[in-house]
Amino acid sequence: MSRIFDLPCPEIAIAGGGRFPVRRILCVGSNYAAHTREMGGDPGREPPLFFSKPADAVVSGEETIPFPPRTADLHHEIELTVAIGTGGANIPVAKALDHVFGYGVGNDLTRRDLQAAARAAGRPWDMAKGFDASAVVSPIMPASAIGHPRQARIWLSVNGTLRQEGDIADMIWNVPEVIAELSTYIRLQPGDVIFTGTPAGVGPIQPGDLVEGGIEGIGTIATRFAAG
Ligand code: MN
Repeated sequence: MSRIFDLPCPEIAIAGGGRFPVRRILCVGSNYAAHTREMGGDPGREPPLFFSKPADAVVSGEETIPFPPRTADLHHEIELTVAIGTGGANIPVAKALDHVFGYGVGNDLTRRDLQAAARAAGRPWDMAKGFDASAVVSPIMPASAIGHPRQARIWLSVNGTLRQEGDIADMIWNVPEVIAELSTYIRLQPGDVIFTGTPAGVGPIQPGDLVEGGIEGIGTIATRFAAG
């Protein structure tokens, strides 16, 4: 039996040419102490919290995107993203970077009102985190071009006003540790994209806003939200 319809594979542009097919989007919950505090949490070194978004939630960071329905409190979360090129399970920290194809800039869009309600009720975050066009991504910068950055300024502005600023060196769990821990839960596969958590300063986005962000040496995004 042939397939009854085509199902396109989501993909992300690669800086310098080519396309990176997206298999899964895996996200770290709280990974900067100051953001954990602003969300009312204790920034101890608890094991990282993982959640996911559908692969087809990816959207280029250079286009106008619809303002999502069913929220009165859409938030931005600027994050380092890690594109997995080589799969593996139970990956040791010392070998983790061998599995990285490259790095990008992501905005983990969040319906904060739905997330707060889910948290309070002990319910899943899927509709708070995994909606259409909720994973804004820049082109992926190959590690073969830039290596594996450990320190870099990360920032986000809304309509030109700086909202988030930090350094990826301040992640509670660094990239090798995130990969190693995540690979104990699932076998990582080529095409997996990991959002590694956001620094402090998350806040609301309104229809019509321009959300810009970047990570020094990796890339930038500039997303316009459709007006109403
Ligand atoms: Mn996030």
